[in-house]
Amino acid sequence: MRTLKIDHIGIAVKSIEEARKLYEDILGLRYEGSETVAEQKVTTAFFPIGDTEIELLESTDPDGPIAKFIEKRGEGIQHIAFRVDDIEKALEELKKQGIQLIDEKPRIGAGGARIAFLHPKATGGVLIELCERK
Ligand code: ZN
Repeated sequence: MRTLKIDHIGIAVKSIEEARKLYEDILGLRYEGSETVAEQKVTTAFFPIGDTEIELLESTDPDGPIAKFIEKRGEGIQHIAFRVDDIEKALEELKKQGIQLIDEKPRIGAGGARIAFLHPKATGGVLIELCERK
């Protein structure tokens, strides 16, 4: 598979509004806007930096995956997203190599990207997202 770059780093926060003070006011990143992905019960906020982005993730529901993550592990880095040129092909190859996947097929994430998660059991505890953008 062809992995192009770190597309973004996903950070779970209790409140985007609160976290913006650090990323925007103190670290000087540019806030690019928020988007709610209802299916994943999450609001995301993107802060581009260099060739990549920081993605803050705030749960919209106490039952959402981000709320559960924070409950178990506290706020912090939740996933790393790798940009791939062909997500279908990448998932095919991973399946062939016996890598456990959360998403067998790509779904639509924030910004209209096609995304899929690998299972942390297969990746040494790191939640890896594959991400294809046109
Ligand atoms: Zn992400």
